[in-house]
Amino acid sequence: MIIVLKPRCKKKSVEAVLKKIRELGFTPHAIVGVERTVIGAVGDDRDKHMLEALETYPCVEKLVPILQPYKLASREIRREATVVKVDSALFGGGHFGVIAGPCSVENEKQIVQTAIGVKKAGAKMLRGGAFKPRTSPYSFQGLEREGLKLLAKAREESGLPFVTEVINPEDVEMVGDYADALQIGARNVQNFSLLRRVGKFGKPIVLKRGMSTTIQEFLMSAEYVLSEGCKDVILCERGIRTFESATRNTLDLSAVLVIHERSHLPIIIDPSHATGVRNYVPPLCYAAMACGADGVMVEVHNDPQKALCDGPQSLGIEDFASVIRKLKELSKFSGKKL
Ligand code: PEP
Ligand code: MN
Repeated sequence: MIIVLKPRCKKKSVEAVLKKIRELGFTPHAIVGVERTVIGAVGDDRDKHMLEALETYPCVEKLVPILQPYKLASREIRREATVVKVDSALFGGGHFGVIAGPCSVENEKQIVQTAIGVKKAGAKMLRGGAFKPRTSPYSFQGLEREGLKLLAKAREESGLPFVTEVINPEDVEMVGDYADALQIGARNVQNFSLLRRVGKFGKPIVLKRGMSTTIQEFLMSAEYVLSEGCKDVILCERGIRTFESATRNTLDLSAVLVIHERSHLPIIIDPSHATGVRNYVPPLCYAAMACGADGVMVEVHNDPQKALCDGPQSLGIEDFASVIRKLKELSKFSGKKL
């Protein structure tokens, strides 16, 4: 339920409403807007009639039921786009954030050189996996804590904040202490205990869509994170599994439009994992901007031929710099700030 308060309510009256919501067994999430405050009361839908008691409070203007199964992620609760800020990188509300870096951290030279290269080219955030969810147990699994230390070193050398994936709920504090933002990978999009843990941790989350996740399920996963108090969720479309086998996955660009209609959260595109083909990555970055996405996440390697993971889909630094140049040109027409 959304509880819309009258303009200029006194703090004491707002607190009384929040207290009542809690007494009724719901969790209030206050959203302070320019004009007025609205409160999202989330809890068991079967009990929502109990919230009608709030109509008698003088500062309450009206109660509006939230029709979607996701509440805090919905546009119904928040009309304005959420802008997620990670250091100086901005995503959403007209800001187009660019995240770039290798699939996985391999060694100091690789990650530091790549970080400095992508920063110079214009990236706003570094990516790199230290814990890799590989299909085969025999593939390179990542450098784990050593990888996190190397990412921290790359941040120091380049000035870029970094996002890295966390796979296990028990590792959230450890990974989160190093990282500026935590990534939940496609395979863990419905790992609900992991979603709850990262939601409690408090740092921004990049939540990737699963290969078989509907948009509704994707937004429900975001809801898990938001319901734990985290407000900074960046959604990432990275391709879904279809009958088509010419590309690694099928990039669902229309998800950007659907999500912008239904949610206030920013959504970025990962064309690298979506296609698995280096040459397809630049045009899809431009398509992402053209259809209104809030950014891209691109795999870039200082020496893609030698990459231990996802080399065929990784751009070299020069190619990445050319993508950024074209995105800057496009931003003049798309109205996005790069
Ligand atoms: C990644 O971004 O490193 C990754 C493994 O992607 P996904 O979870 O989308 O497969
Ligand atoms: Mn990868």
